[in-house]
Amino acid sequence: MFIISTKTMLSKAQREGYAVPAFNIHNLETLQVVVETAAELRSPLIVAGTPGTFSYAGIGNIVAIAADLAKTYNQPLAIHLDHHEELADIERKVHAGVRSVMIDGSHLPYAENVAVVKAVTDFCHRYDVSVEAELGRLGGQEDDLIVDAKDTRFTNPQQAQDFIEKTGIDSLAVAIGTAHGLYSEEPKLDFDRLAEIRQAVEVPLVLHGASGLPAADIRRAIGLGICKVNVATELKIAFSDALKAYLLLHPNASDPRHYMVPAKAAMKEVVRKVIHDCGCEGKL
Ligand SMILES: [Zn+2]
Repeated sequence: MFIISTKTMLSKAQREGYAVPAFNIHNLETLQVVVETAAELRSPLIVAGTPGTFSYAGIGNIVAIAADLAKTYNQPLAIHLDHHEELADIERKVHAGVRSVMIDGSHLPYAENVAVVKAVTDFCHRYDVSVEAELGRLGGQEDDLIVDAKDTRFTNPQQAQDFIEKTGIDSLAVAIGTAHGLYSEEPKLDFDRLAEIRQAVEVPLVLHGASGLPAADIRRAIGLGICKVNVATELKIAFSDALKAYLLLHPNASDPRHYMVPAKAAMKEVVRKVIHDCGCEGKL
């Protein structure tokens, strides 16, 4: 079995004190880069796709390419549904071969978030599919737990404990000051809160929005219990900047087998750096 869930890989990461990177991929080339690089560095690997990625590339195509690459490189990997929101969509993709899911109900009121996550977890666990959910993006109206205005985007540790108990999720995405996309100014992570969440819950913790985060912050977060680090934007920028630079220099280029090469090489450097920052080299 080359397409696996994240359950075993994240509990190993938790025991041994490193993180597994989840790289957002979009097509053949980006899948090739992450599988090839992880295999070279003997790193555990999660390849992630948002609903938009699967609409673009097709779930069957992604699963088939990832499975073939995994086998070719002898590199087991998880194909992960990133920020999915619909149970029916998740069911369809699990039936297509996916074994790792993030159900994102973080925009919903707390009780609804619990209900939708619980329904997804109940379904997924019948198929040995691991489930991640996110808590903390919304503030104010969260059940009977009171969240300070300054904490509205942050995960509340006691609520996290309750959330995990009620939903049975396998990992928790925390909101501690990171954001999706690139940072316009240096982010200030709430490491005290992360430590409190770690104290309050036992499941592996997930850090979203790691693109552009200083390596020291990533390492500190891993030291405080982060076991999965999500990277998307940084990969896309490296890939497309190199592609644009190549096409500017070679305006008559028309062969993707040539112009994709520098783009893949640039993305590979980012993948290497993230694997290094996660401390997961040789941990496969
Ligand atoms: Zn995310």
